[in-house]
Amino acid sequence: MIIPDAKMIKDAARRLGADCVGIGSIDRWEGAPAQMDPRFIMPRAKSIIAMGFRVFRGSLRGIEEGTYFSNYSAMGYGGITYLYMPMTVINLCKVIEDAGFEAIPMGHQSDWRAIDNGGIRRENYSRPVAPGKPIPDVMIHLRIAGYLCGLGEIGWSKMLLTPEFGPRQRIGIIITELELEPDPIMEPGTLCNRCMACVRECPGSCISATKSVKVNLAGHQVEWGEIDIDRCGYVFTGAEKTSEGEKGGYNGEGYKPNFISPFYQKPRNLYNTGQAVCGARGCTRACMISLESRGKLKNRFENPFRDHKPWTMDWSDEAIAADQPAEYSNPTGRPVKPSDVD
Ligand code: SF4
Ligand code: SF4
Repeated sequence: MIIPDAKMIKDAARRLGADCVGIGSIDRWEGAPAQMDPRFIMPRAKSIIAMGFRVFRGSLRGIEEGTYFSNYSAMGYGGITYLYMPMTVINLCKVIEDAGFEAIPMGHQSDWRAIDNGGIRRENYSRPVAPGKPIPDVMIHLRIAGYLCGLGEIGWSKMLLTPEFGPRQRIGIIITELELEPDPIMEPGTLCNRCMACVRECPGSCISATKSVKVNLAGHQVEWGEIDIDRCGYVFTGAEKTSEGEKGGYNGEGYKPNFISPFYQKPRNLYNTGQAVCGARGCTRACMISLESRGKLKNRFENPFRDHKPWTMDWSDEAIAADQPAEYSNPTGRPVKPSDVD
């Protein structure tokens, strides 16, 4: 039986649909909190394989133009996470298990985790099965896994930035007993120059410019801006909290549409989690523009992503009353009414 080496695994991962792939040895998770330690999931694990799945720049286009919001949430978010990525990690695990080594395919499946986005235990949710064990489910931090496998660096925005796509990918991993040659870890500062475009353009000001989180990951000092996760959790759906006396109903009673949502009510989720009306305006779009303008990314384009001032929504009664959607000119200059379109 042939035991696959790192090159064979990486070639197979790309053939099966990953856009970039890196490998980390399990000792790089030494010191991880128990609730985020892959060794509690697979005690005999030797390696983690991390794969990046690109979010198409085209999937952000419709939001940038302000005309087509669903594609990012569907094809750039939920569809990659719950449809495309699982197929790649499942098929790559077959290669590993056929060689006699256990492998866990992990797309994005943190819905059952015992801790919330802020690392706090979910109340009345689950209990450890035995003393000394973490609470089910342990959650592997995918961006940090990407970093520890050499895919890229953690930017100020806490996004994983890769040399291929910057912040524009989702991460899937495999935990395996197979020992593989690890990739070098990227030096912090290789891609993120602290330009703070992510901070300036986040529609909820969710990323702090001054307060940071510092952690030691496999001997490397890594720092990112403090993120207001709770606020991001509703702002990214296009919501803003109502003030006293204001009408709500965007996503529950206490929320109204914010300045980057054109929707009266939050549209339904696509592929389970896709509800990113904000189109990752700060942490992805602004960062990508910054990295592209500095020539940092391998995935290059003929034209710049942004060629006009970004739009914003005015939700005042006067602005709503002034809406004139009935007739418009299409890009050829021919007037079109919605009733003319099938
Ligand atoms: S926008 Fe600038 S500061 Fe923020 S993560 Fe990207 S490169 Fe770093
Ligand atoms: S997802 Fe949107 S709201 Fe959340 S940090 Fe990124 S840009 Fe800000």
